[in-house]
Amino acid sequence: MNLSNIRIGNGYDVHRLVEGRKLILGGVEVPHSMGLDGHSDADALIHALCDALLGAMGAGDIGAYFPDTDPRWKGISSLLLLKEVMRMCREKGFEVANTDSVIVAQKPKLSPHLEEMKKNLATAMDVETDQINIKATTTEKLGFAGREEGIAAYAVALLVKNV
Ligand code: MG
Repeated sequence: MNLSNIRIGNGYDVHRLVEGRKLILGGVEVPHSMGLDGHSDADALIHALCDALLGAMGAGDIGAYFPDTDPRWKGISSLLLLKEVMRMCREKGFEVANTDSVIVAQKPKLSPHLEEMKKNLATAMDVETDQINIKATTTEKLGFAGREEGIAAYAVALLVKNV
């Protein structure tokens, strides 16, 4: 086995919680009194995952491909960005082995929505749901996430190059 064909990447993203926006995470509209602010739908989980995938393929970061100054990406579903990143991934000869992620949010409770998020990501990425893992944690009310000022997400992705 040639280990250079196995590539890991990590991603991190934060969006601010504001009133008057929908809370979209993993393509799921989660009922909450606030939502994430941003140029797109501000889906921090998907943005972190896109950066993990781009990192693993050595292709920079999401801001280079989908800049928040570009009107084409205004209000766009981040699932479409994920699909585009996966298209690039396969074009470069990579397949996804697995991805893991953590959403950091004090509120709302995300565990009832994680299965639907997994399904959304697996569909957008054209992989099996058991290749996707999503976890959620609070920060025991510490820091910006604990004060409910924003939501953060971390992701890692493992890619294998077809040879
Ligand atoms: Mg973002």
